[in-house]
Amino acid sequence: MTPTQPLFNRVAFIGIGLIGSSLARAIRKYHLADHIAISTRRAETLDTAKALNLGDSYSQDPAEAIVDADLVVICTPMGAFEAVAKAISPALKTGAIVTDVGSVKSTAVNDLLPHLPKDVHLVPGHPIAGTEHSGPESGYADLFPGHWCILTPTDDVDSAAVDKVKALWLACGAKVEIMTPDHHDRVLAITSHLPHLIAFTIVDTAAQLAEETQKEVIQFSASGFRDFTRIAASDPVMWRDVFLSNKGAVLDILGRFREDLDQLTTAIEDDDGELLEETFARTRAIRRGIIDEKQHIPDAKPGKKT
Ligand code: NAP
Repeated sequence: MTPTQPLFNRVAFIGIGLIGSSLARAIRKYHLADHIAISTRRAETLDTAKALNLGDSYSQDPAEAIVDADLVVICTPMGAFEAVAKAISPALKTGAIVTDVGSVKSTAVNDLLPHLPKDVHLVPGHPIAGTEHSGPESGYADLFPGHWCILTPTDDVDSAAVDKVKALWLACGAKVEIMTPDHHDRVLAITSHLPHLIAFTIVDTAAQLAEETQKEVIQFSASGFRDFTRIAASDPVMWRDVFLSNKGAVLDILGRFREDLDQLTTAIEDDDGELLEETFARTRAIRRGIIDEKQHIPDAKPGKKT
């Protein structure tokens, strides 16, 4: 539901790629802030943001962009979080809320919190919505409706700050869930990070096949492979940071996955049709559960959720 008054006077974005520009567009569309300040690293990205009229003021200097902001949204790859926190910390206004959209929440807490002043409220967030495209031109205001946004505030954070960030995401059409950073990272390791790793591996394996077979892989890609190529086209820097940030949870789940893959490999070797059929029947039931939860709805534009 759109609030009758803007939720914030001044919102500052650090990073204005797919997710930042989508949120900036949604804030503009639903008039959730009086002023949107935009900061990004490269002059050409800032020019694109200006040309798209995503904000009201623009700066390459994050510390300048966040002056007087009551909400700062960090939308860079996670590898930049610590440097961003250090750069903005001295200029943050007392009582400001800092949030982010990074895909690994323990990293958000570990890399941001130690560098922020005590009178600032950190409310980490992760919208589970996205596409394989990057940059300000690829965002759109209706990216979030129907998707979850997970918030992972620490126990001691001001509940009014959490409520404001929650209200922002609800106003953008997202559904909001609150959990601990570690729990978020374990859940996302299986629902998002492992599937991406599998897609990167399959597409890379196909790319290394003999030239003749490669041509046929592209020609007949409709049979399942195409979805993997879309996921494997995701931003390399972002995904490098996801795997390095969520190392523990990803390695745990990868161990479990390897055991299950070995079991299915053995079933094929041993002509154990019963085990194969039992496994596929279980996975079919999971898909039905996802449909019951209405989580199968395709994104407004073709894309992935991370
Ligand atoms: P994106 O489209 O590639 O945009 C990244 C933005 O961060 C750009 O403005 C870029 O600036 C800036 N940036 C990149 N490296 C930087 C650095 N080292 N220092 C400062 N700024 C830097 O990225 P995105 O897909 O929006 O992802 C942003 C965040 O959202 C990531 O943390 C990711 O984990 C999270 N996320 C992504 C998705 C998804 O599907 N893509 C979904 C949910 C959450 P310049 O262009 O000026 O260099």
